[in-house]
Amino acid sequence: MTEDPLTRMMLQLRDWTYDHYHWAFLVGTGVICQSVFFPDPKATTLAWLGCVSAGALLEPCVNPYRQLYGRSLGRLSEGVALTYDDGPGPDTPALLDLLAREKVKASFFLIGQQIEKYPEVVKRIADEGHLIGNHTYSHPNLMLCSPGRTRRELERVQQQLQQLTGQKPVFWRPPFGFRSPWTQPVASQLGLRSALWTVNPRDFQDPGSQVIVQRTQEGLQPGVIVLLHDGLEKRGQTLEATARLISQLKETTNFVRLDQTHG
Ligand SMILES: [Zn+2]
Repeated sequence: MTEDPLTRMMLQLRDWTYDHYHWAFLVGTGVICQSVFFPDPKATTLAWLGCVSAGALLEPCVNPYRQLYGRSLGRLSEGVALTYDDGPGPDTPALLDLLAREKVKASFFLIGQQIEKYPEVVKRIADEGHLIGNHTYSHPNLMLCSPGRTRRELERVQQQLQQLTGQKPVFWRPPFGFRSPWTQPVASQLGLRSALWTVNPRDFQDPGSQVIVQRTQEGLQPGVIVLLHDGLEKRGQTLEATARLISQLKETTNFVRLDQTHG
C-alpha cells in the first residue's frame, strides 16, 4: 500500500486511536488543550463546538464502519468473504492456484495501474470465477480528491475491466477506506456499490502469517468480510495466511464472494 505522508499520518492516527483509546484519547487531548490554550470560557465553548462539529463531520470520512456519506457493504448475512486489495501483483497467480486447489471463491479489488502491468492475471481472476471490483486507477486518498478526479479514477478502471474481462464491476472499495461526502454519490452514478470490511488483520504491515491468521480468527463471525492484500508488493505472508485460514476453517465455513449473499 503506497501512500503520501499526509495519508500515512491519517491512517496511523485512525488505527492507533481506534485500537487503543478510541474517543477517550481525543476527548482527553481536548481537555488538556482547553486548559492550556483556551482559559477564557467563551473562547473555550466556541473552540469545543468547532472541534466537535469538525470531528463529527470528518470521522465518518476515515471510519470504514460509518455510513453518513453513503451506504457501504460492511458485513454479509452468512459465510466468510475473503477479499484482496491492491492487485494484481507478483503473488496473485500463486494465490489463484491456492484458491483453485481449495475450490474457494474470493473477491479482488484491483488497481488500474496494476491492471496495466498484469492484464493476463486479471483475465485469469475473472475466468476462475472470482468477483472483480474497482479499487481506483492510482489508489489515491479520496478525501483529498475532487468529484471530477474521483469520477476519472473509477471510470478508467471500469473501462479497463470491461475491455479485459467483458464484466463491468458493481462493487468498489475506497483506498484506505477513506471517503469524502461526494465520493459515494459519484460512484453511484457509475453503478458502483461500496464494499468495505469487517475484519482487518493488517497483512500489509507484514506481521507474520501466524499473526495475520490470529487477528483474522479473533474477528471471525458469520458474515464477516476479511480485508487482505495481494498487490503492489510481495505478499508471501498473506498467501501463507490464506492457506492456513482455509485449511483451518474449510470444514465449518462457507467461503463466499461478496455478491453471493445479502448484506
Ligand atoms: Zn488499497
